[in-house]
Amino acid sequence: MRYAVFGTGIVGRTIAAKLAALGHQTVIGTRDVEATLARTQPDSMGNPPFTQWHASLPEVRLKTFAEAAEGAEAVINATAGANSLEALTAAGADNLAGKVLIDIANPLDFSAGMPPTLNPVNTDSLGEQIQRAFPDAKVVKTLNTMNCEVMVDPSRVAGAHTVFVSGNDAEAKNQVTELLLSFGWPKARILDLGDITAARGTEMLLPVWLRLWGALGHADFNFHIAGT
Ligand code: NAP
Repeated sequence: MRYAVFGTGIVGRTIAAKLAALGHQTVIGTRDVEATLARTQPDSMGNPPFTQWHASLPEVRLKTFAEAAEGAEAVINATAGANSLEALTAAGADNLAGKVLIDIANPLDFSAGMPPTLNPVNTDSLGEQIQRAFPDAKVVKTLNTMNCEVMVDPSRVAGAHTVFVSGNDAEAKNQVTELLLSFGWPKARILDLGDITAARGTEMLLPVWLRLWGALGHADFNFHIAGT
């Protein structure tokens, strides 16, 4: 498949590297290619500048959001949740129409400091906002409830644990399920929660996830739904 991964942060890099390792033709989308390549400082999370990571994977091309989406069969949104609509708007609705749009982002609002709050929350979700803004895209919310290393290597967490999937298009969810299987997720651990409104609940797991991260002191954990 030809994938466009939107996001030059740790999540975009991790997903893009996995897709490339699986043999998918993968590009990363960014706002401004030159500006991203010119960065020399670690990002706000302490990750090395993009070029440093890119040097080990030059076959993954860096393009603008629009260029990346135009050539892709499927798009993955791994941008900052507060800016995801902006990034997808820059990609252009025509470049997203008819395509599976996998939304990994969380609508974390850091404007009042730490810990972040969620916006939207409870009666709406980022997944729904994206689906409403791009009605011709097939939005599937998944993988947002765990650390990015676990997303692409579920064996980092011992025992059974769960990945949620939601979206309005059954065939799109089937495609995403195939992708998750290729990432190493057992079929029995992929839990379809129904339409995209389920994203309200999976996004609202983030405050719990953040507290668990603090309590455990590491990110190699995940939610496990017993009784499935
Ligand atoms: P991030 O720092 O949250 O986001 C970086 C990306 O957002 C960059 O590609 C950046 O574009 C884009 N961006 C920032 N401001 C923008 C704007 N005004 N307009 C358009 N695009 C903008 O990166 P991350 O830490 O890798 O997280 C990505 C997403 O995954 C987030 O929504 C996060 O909540 C979610 N998530 C993270 C984890 C995890 O393990 N860290 C786990 C689950 C979900 P440029 O490339 O142009 O700078």
